[in-house]
Amino acid sequence: MNDMPDILEGSCLCGRVRYRVRAPRGEMDHCHCVHCRKSHGAAFATYIEARSEAFEWIAGRENLETYMADTGTKRSFCVTCGSTLTCWTDADPAVLEVAAGTLDTPVTMRARSHIFVRSKFDEGRYVVGRRSRRQRAAAGA
Ligand SMILES: [Zn+2]
Ligand SMILES: [Zn+2]
Repeated sequence: MNDMPDILEGSCLCGRVRYRVRAPRGEMDHCHCVHCRKSHGAAFATYIEARSEAFEWIAGRENLETYMADTGTKRSFCVTCGSTLTCWTDADPAVLEVAAGTLDTPVTMRARSHIFVRSKFDEGRYVVGRRSRRQRAAAGA
């Protein structure tokens, strides 16, 4: 069940960058692709899909930098603390992935699935979900 509040707020580790995302939002997935692992320094990264128009920076936008991978996937991050906050591709500008680990609003929804488990870091067993066309394109798969 997705009983998350209508408005979610999040921030980077140092707190300079803050954002807000309104409902409705899409699914939440744990992504094991190498790009997510590297950019987050973690075994996998968790993203909530949102419409770009439902997302807004509320502080510290000048403190953001964008990194574009060779696949064309872009990620915004705080230049002070390095937190990755969003992920998108210019090929699909209407959709934005929000790094769920940066949310300050408690997350009460359950992740749909683990994706790109083929690239997983560990020997863990994960329930594999179906990737969207956009997610496959974003990871270059
Ligand atoms: Zn920061
Ligand atoms: Zn990924």
